[in-house]
Amino acid sequence: MKRLNKSIEDDVSKKNEIEKVKTQEHMPVVALRGMVMFPNMVLHFDVGRRCSILALENSLKGNQNVFIVSQKDVKTDNPRINDIYKVGIVARVKQIIRQPGGVIRALVEGIRRGKIDNIMSESPFMVANIQYLNELIDQHDISSKALERKSKELFMEYLSVSPKVSPDLIIAAHAIKDLGQIADFIASNIPLDYEDKQRILEEVRDKKRLELVVSLLSNELDILKMENKIAIRLRKNMDDKQREYLLREQMKVISEELGEEEDDPSYEAKKYEKKLKKLKLKKSNFNKLMEEINHFSKMSFASGESTILRNYLDFCLGLPWNRESKDNDDISKAEKILDKSHYGLDFVKERIIEFLSARKLSNNASSQILCLAGPPGTGKTSIAKSLAKAMGKKYIRISLGGVNDEAEIRGHRKTYIGAMPGKIMSSIKKINVRNPMILLDEIDKISAHHHGDPAAALLEVLDSEQNKEFNDHFVDLDFDLSDVFFVATANDISNIPGPLLDRLEIITLYSYTHEEKFNIAKKFLISKQMKKNGLNSRNFKINDECVHTLIDNYTREAGVRDLERKLSKIMRKAAKSIVTGDSKKILVNEKTMLEMLGPKKFKKDKISDHGEIGVVRGLAWTAVGGESLPIEVSLMKGKGKVQVTGSLGDVMKESAQLAVSYIRSNSEKLGIKNDFYENTDIHIHAPEGAVPKDGPSAGVTMTTALVSALSKIPAKQDVAMTGEITLKGKVLPIGGLREKTMAAYRAGVKTVIIPEENESDLSKLDKTVKDNIHFVLASDLDSVFDAALEKRFPIT
Ligand code: ADP
Repeated sequence: MKRLNKSIEDDVSKKNEIEKVKTQEHMPVVALRGMVMFPNMVLHFDVGRRCSILALENSLKGNQNVFIVSQKDVKTDNPRINDIYKVGIVARVKQIIRQPGGVIRALVEGIRRGKIDNIMSESPFMVANIQYLNELIDQHDISSKALERKSKELFMEYLSVSPKVSPDLIIAAHAIKDLGQIADFIASNIPLDYEDKQRILEEVRDKKRLELVVSLLSNELDILKMENKIAIRLRKNMDDKQREYLLREQMKVISEELGEEEDDPSYEAKKYEKKLKKLKLKKSNFNKLMEEINHFSKMSFASGESTILRNYLDFCLGLPWNRESKDNDDISKAEKILDKSHYGLDFVKERIIEFLSARKLSNNASSQILCLAGPPGTGKTSIAKSLAKAMGKKYIRISLGGVNDEAEIRGHRKTYIGAMPGKIMSSIKKINVRNPMILLDEIDKISAHHHGDPAAALLEVLDSEQNKEFNDHFVDLDFDLSDVFFVATANDISNIPGPLLDRLEIITLYSYTHEEKFNIAKKFLISKQMKKNGLNSRNFKINDECVHTLIDNYTREAGVRDLERKLSKIMRKAAKSIVTGDSKKILVNEKTMLEMLGPKKFKKDKISDHGEIGVVRGLAWTAVGGESLPIEVSLMKGKGKVQVTGSLGDVMKESAQLAVSYIRSNSEKLGIKNDFYENTDIHIHAPEGAVPKDGPSAGVTMTTALVSALSKIPAKQDVAMTGEITLKGKVLPIGGLREKTMAAYRAGVKTVIIPEENESDLSKLDKTVKDNIHFVLASDLDSVFDAALEKRFPIT
């Protein structure tokens, strides 16, 4: 109480000090929760607390006056003197009505401000001696008028944006002239916090009070405007729909007025029908679409269903049912285009031309689909693109990487929420001809899932018997795909499901040799990138040395994708420095390249000319090209445990066991102590552990490394090998020889040991590789050891 009195008294100048009028009065006190009453305000409220009911009843026994005051905390149930504010309203109880459940509804009218002077009793209800507080009139000047106007203006603005406003309020507000009363009137009619309202109530100076109200009101107005803005934004979607509905209805009326489509219920449906008739579809498709259009014409324009159907009709009627581009079947021209766009790849080009010729002779009815398989960056996609150009076909690519849902190929039924056509039909729509080339990129990356098998759907797409009437679930009409020229690409054909693989005519692309990369860069990539980056031979040059360095030291890949990226990076930097005026002409040499690309990333392993004990170079095939894969063996004192590390798969671990068994049974011949497995632990490791490795073709490598470690005979480091072994020491044939030997060549190996049965594959190897590598054909392990170890086994 002291604090409140003080705050009021401090604020008010001495002259205007609260005046104690004669009238002081004892009266019952009723505490309100979360509400503040003002003079001239009529308040309805329900009271359930016993102390409040008694207070109201007692006031009726006297002169009906009661002191209405707010409690400080709404949660307090039984407020005492310290729980309530001191300043409140002296009010007259007009009516009390008893409600069921002991509650009474009171109607009270605020008369004037008052302040608790002292408490007479607290129980069973509060009675206090109340001092009336007089209104203090601040000095009025021109600013008072401005304040009055401002407050009314703000209040009107507030009423205009707030929902539910009685027009009486506007009239009443205009009628009040007294600043203090305006403040009370506004305060009692806007939803402020009760603490703020209490502040207004406690301010007895009229002008100050109105200033306070104006500041709180403008705050409240900002909040309300923001709320409205949010609500408008939320409603906008809804409104857009309604607007569309209205516009469509208006359109209907206008077209009726103009006499168009007088007897047709839907102008839009009529348009669809016209379009459909122009398409000249086969009967079953025509009937189905006509049925849908009829259905559509009976729908309400704004319904969700009609939107779905409209999408469907737009999609289907927009398909290139009879639109096609003119094919070019001049094979020699095709040949020229392929030659012009790609270096080397002779056998690929040859196979493609053969394929095209066969297709031409059989009148386009080839059931096989071309599949270009090979490591990334070897030109699969770009040769397919050139092929499309050569054939005069439009080209579109569908990426199949990660597709595991049949619906992605064949679409969802349109009854599905958010249904869409599959990738095939979407591409046809996009490319807008019925006979394009569709590139099915990464066909080896599809996988079956519980949503169905995309491979089965693809089979249907590719099958010339079935694809004349391809039925996408969304489109639900037969579309003829037989004139689409499908080409697939894959990295690893072993991942393509069998039935799909049967349909494919595989053409393999292999890793490029250093020389091939160099030629591709010189003849294609450099000029292509120069053009892209706006450079020409007058302002840019890169010397051959740099291209060699880029291939050897900045990239390590089977194809040329990274090489192209690096060239592009160099050229971007060159273009920038020309544009910014730093230089007029850029000559890329080793030094500038170092500045542009940073230090070299890969250094060629130096192959030692001394043999090493327990270290042998194997060769592996991976989907991204061949790899040279060293195997290391260490021996320790122990009990014959064999440990294998370096991300080796199960088949490789078995190879290790096989190697140990072979050596145990041939220890004498190999000059190895026959009790080695009793007192030695063996650790076999394949470095570069992050690369998972598996397959049986490391059998010879593991055995040779083990034999070298156990016999202490060094293995030659410029020899690499590949081959599967049997328990009896036979060497069995392996696959991927071309990629493996390419990796050996890249690593600088001089001799490669291959299984004898792979001899016929030698003719398929790259010429440069053949010219630079000496091949040893091995039918059994003895011949492998002969070629790989530095000397024959000593007798122990
Ligand atoms: P892939 O589809 O096999 O991953 P890309 O077709 O994307 O490879 O080829 C990568 C880049 O290398 C392309 O810019 C392509 O033109 C170029 N390229 C690849 N091989 C050759 C080649 N033999 N001649 C000319 N450019 C080539």
